[in-house]
Parts: sequence; structure tokens; C-alpha cells
Amino acid sequence: MKLSIEPKVFSDESLNSWLIRSSIANGSDPRSFYIALWEEYKAWNKDLDKHLPKQQAYSLAKMTALTPEEIKNLTLEPYLQKIIDKPLNPLGLWYFLIPRGKRGLSQTNGMHFCSKCLSDSTPYLKRQWRLAWNIGCPVHKIKLLNKCPNCRIIFSPQLLKYDTPKIYLCSSCGFDLRGAETTPADGKALKFQEILNKAIFNTQITSFPALHTQSLQDLFMTIRSIIPFFQQIYKLKKYHLFFETLDLDIHYMEESKIMHVFEKMSIDDREFLLKLTYQFLQADIETIKKLLQQLETTNKVFSSKPASMSPTILYLSKFLKITDSSKIENPKQYAIKPNAKDEVNRLYSELLELI
Ligand SMILES: [Zn+2]
Ligand SMILES: [Zn+2]
Repeated sequence: MKLSIEPKVFSDESLNSWLIRSSIANGSDPRSFYIALWEEYKAWNKDLDKHLPKQQAYSLAKMTALTPEEIKNLTLEPYLQKIIDKPLNPLGLWYFLIPRGKRGLSQTNGMHFCSKCLSDSTPYLKRQWRLAWNIGCPVHKIKLLNKCPNCRIIFSPQLLKYDTPKIYLCSSCGFDLRGAETTPADGKALKFQEILNKAIFNTQITSFPALHTQSLQDLFMTIRSIIPFFQQIYKLKKYHLFFETLDLDIHYMEESKIMHVFEKMSIDDREFLLKLTYQFLQADIETIKKLLQQLETTNKVFSSKPASMSPTILYLSKFLKITDSSKIENPKQYAIKPNAKDEVNRLYSELLELI
């Protein structure tokens, strides 16, 4: 079987977007289309923007003009693999990939959209909208959205029915999302977002004084390590010096509680942290090193997150005090608290990557 009508793929289009557009072009709805393509492979339950197994990529290639390699390049796997030094586990959570809900029927955060981009003559969904450092549209300078403003349901175009076959319609209430209102995106956050998009999609690297090496992995994993560090220290009085010296404005953090891991944060929280991190990366690594030493930051506080993957974090950690648990004078102060659910999920996914 060959697809009767095969829409042209846009260079920055996500796999799910192209499949949804193909299903509509062929007079079907996405769910029936997935069944026709792959029978027992329950594609509506899967995160197709993230990863497509080889077998499904081959069977899809047979029905289309695309090669299995081109199909894989529509997923985010080849790009996010660049920032990790071990093979990504399709079942795990990936750094920077905004996760979808487990059951696939409704997403928790998932696919975002630019309401103005959806007004293009051939609307489609961009791969980058699933990556957590994308908070706005660089063309329209507005914040991305992930919910229908009318019914508040998460944007789920894969659930469109055959009688509402438009990618810009809410799959739940039919609201025209092209009219969804949003707010302007911060210029600095957008600038940093585009630096990161160019790094991951075009391997065009911008160097930063705060980095020990200028590799892709160092850039992304330093960002991913420093964000939880900011979340951990902003409440501590002694770290005011850290933020002041590096000219980091943490006003937003003091006023609104930032919860969750980066991938699950709201657009506003991520926008703020992107701006903060962009500013941080422009500081000199030796200044950062001295500050951390002056503040007697311990190795444990600084690199308790995924530090092993960032040469910068490893370099800076080398000069910090190593916490020795036997030296803790009053163990009663250190009550063992259960980890937050997000943290448990992350640890679990890290564990999955090892087995
Ligand atoms: Zn746009
Ligand atoms: Zn709706």
C-alpha cells in the first residue's frame, strides 16, 4: 500500500504533525490512520515526536517517499542524542523533552503551538515546540501555548476526529486556536532559545565564557545542571552575593514558587530561567569558581544533579569542598524526606537508561 496523497514535509516539522496532516489529506482521522499504517502498534499511545521504532519506520517508509533515515530525522531522537553520551532509552524521560501524558489520551504538557503560525496557509507543528527551551515563536515574538483557551484542554491534535479535520481546531471543543490570545515573549529568552535551536538542529555553536569546553554536550548539560542549582540556592541568604556578583535578577523566583523539573515547568517559569541561565553563561568561569569557593559551596550541593555529563560542572566541582557525611555534627537536623514525585520519576528513568 502507498499513501494516495502525501503532504510535503516541512524541514522543521515533527513526525506526529506530518502523520496528522497525512491522515487528514487522505480523508481519515489520525487514530484510524495509525491503525491502517501499523495495525497493532498503538501509535496514539506513543510519543511519535520522540522516537519511532525501526520496524515502524521501515513499514512507514514502504508506504511513502521518505526513507527510514528521513523518518527518524523527523523525531527528536537524533538531536537529543547529541547532548548525552549514552544511548537514549525510548522508555525513559529525556532531558529537555517536554513529556506527554502516560496514556496518550490527554497530554500533561506536551505539544505547544504558536497561534499565529497555525494561521499559515499550510499549518503544521514544529519539532522545536516539544523542546523545553522553546518558550516563544521567533517569527511572531509571542509565547507558545499548550491549552485551548476555551475548554482548557491540553492541545492534542492527534485526537482530532474526521468531522473536524483541521490541525488548528481544538480536538475537544472545536475552538479555532488561531484566535487564541497570548502575550509577547521576552526578547532575551527568545535570543537564547534560538542560539540553542541552532546548536541542536544545525550544530552551530556559540561559545560562552562560563563553559569549560565549547561542546554541545557541555552547553546543554550545564544548563540542565545549573537550573536545579538555582532552584536550590535562591532562598539561602548567603547566595545573594552569588546572584548579585553575576548580575542575576532573581526577583521572579522570590515572588512565584517554581515547582517541577525544567521539562514540566510552565512557559513563564521556563522563560525566566532561560533568561537567568543566559546571563549566567556570560560570566567568566574563573569568577564563578572563586564565588563558589568563597561561599563554601559543597560539591554535593553544586553537582547533585546530572553533573557527570557536563565538563563545566565537573571542572567547577573539582575545586569545591567535598562533603563528608561522617562530619555532620547533628544528624537529627537532617531528617530523611521522601523525594518529590518528579525527582523519583527522573531517578527511575535514569535507572532505566542503565539497564
Ligand atoms: Zn509563530
Ligand atoms: Zn477546546
